[in-house]
Amino acid sequence: MNGPWLVMCDVDGVQTWLLRSVHLREIAGASQLLVDHDDEMPKVAVGGQALFSGGGSALVRFDHRAQAERLQRELPSSLQRRTVDATVTVSEPQGVGTGPFGDAVARAVRDVEQKKRLGRLHGETADACFALRCQGCASEPVVAEGQVRINNEPRLLGAGCLARHKARSRAGWLDWMRIRPGWQGIGPAHLPADATELSGGGKLALVLADVNGVGERLASLQTEESYKVFSEGLTRAVHKALVEAVADVVTPREDDGWKLAVEVLYAGGDDVLLACRDDLALRLVRKLVTEFGSRASGDSNHWCGGVPLGISAAVAVVGPKFPFRAAHAIAGRLLRHAKRVARQERWTEGAVDWAVVTEAWAEGGPILSDRSIESSSLALELTGRPYRASAAGLRSLGSFQEACSKLATEFPRNKLFDLRGLCSASQLAPRASGAATRRAVDEARQDLSARVLDLVGRLQRNPDAARRWTEAISALGLDPQKPFWNVEAEWRTPVGDLAEGIGLWGLS
Ligand SMILES: [Zn+2]
Repeated sequence: MNGPWLVMCDVDGVQTWLLRSVHLREIAGASQLLVDHDDEMPKVAVGGQALFSGGGSALVRFDHRAQAERLQRELPSSLQRRTVDATVTVSEPQGVGTGPFGDAVARAVRDVEQKKRLGRLHGETADACFALRCQGCASEPVVAEGQVRINNEPRLLGAGCLARHKARSRAGWLDWMRIRPGWQGIGPAHLPADATELSGGGKLALVLADVNGVGERLASLQTEESYKVFSEGLTRAVHKALVEAVADVVTPREDDGWKLAVEVLYAGGDDVLLACRDDLALRLVRKLVTEFGSRASGDSNHWCGGVPLGISAAVAVVGPKFPFRAAHAIAGRLLRHAKRVARQERWTEGAVDWAVVTEAWAEGGPILSDRSIESSSLALELTGRPYRASAAGLRSLGSFQEACSKLATEFPRNKLFDLRGLCSASQLAPRASGAATRRAVDEARQDLSARVLDLVGRLQRNPDAARRWTEAISALGLDPQKPFWNVEAEWRTPVGDLAEGIGLWGLS
């Protein structure tokens, strides 16, 4: 096979690496280190041209195989100098030859994936016992210069966390916001010191988003030029959508005490990870998905080749002391589920899910399984989630927002929490969990239906509340007397989502 030669590199477990520390400051700093690494790529890839570079991933093109091999040798140590403890997997050089460009890209991606699988066989977990462990990540020894103050508390850090800690003093993603009015004077001083400050005393939301179907699209590209156009267009669209989403929910103020309620932790290629105050989460996500959609469809966006792309998102709402790693694992699980649903339902815009995490349900699996009662031929889905990432239509995020806004005033909030309590598999049919029969599913549905109508029926003495209920349920495209969507072998009700929605849309 002849040149040009392609080398794909990808920082290992990048989001897990970012979230290794428990401190927000070091997570954000780690993100900055990755940006530095991306910026340094042209210096390390001598004789090469980065066709794509972002978030610790890159695809670099070389004329000669020897140059490609040099990057392969030198990139791991260059990354380690920057980050202390991040590792990167680099593919074997792949010749493009005369075949389609996408084939060579797909080979490089497969090679990276295979190497990562092999690497794990050797077991890379750090399990050594240190006399004094880093108070950021608990998995490295403390270094002498690692004494820092985090929110006025003394902390001892290891080399890895210290590098992250120092990197936070640079502006990073705030530089992207400069194109928006009011953001020119916003700098590192306005970044929150920790998760408690970020959440403003309430809860915080970890938002994870990912563009749908990028891998298939990249593999289908025929030429190097089309790869460059696509990956540049994709990165720009994600980046701009992110800027618009943050600007939509944050009004910057330059006074000293003011702190941002959003922190972008990672934005590379088609992935985004950010933390924000919980009452900003759904508005931010809605803006992100719609802004991305408008930049990834239509005739004016040539980069996506006339085939629209969508982005899916998942939100884990947690207390400020809840470990980022655990919240990220939950959001990741929800995101994979949302993307699967978007594919099944052919929602090109993508899908959006969230979970308010309580101590009792602190894992993705139980959160998802508590949402449905299923037999082999009939299912009762106790939520509308994931919602379609569109502004209007059945099961859309837009209609859900409208329904929540109808109930934000004049409707007793405790009734909404009662509804949410009803919409839980473990409450409704504790014995049906696992393998239910069709009859048990149908009975659970009738039971839920009767309880919902009973609860709403008691609102009749309060005409404003009754009217609000009718408006909200109609906004969801449902009959107020039958608060279910009936889709073939599935009953689905969104009424339990409303209580959480009011808070997450910032309506309370
Ligand atoms: Zn550490």
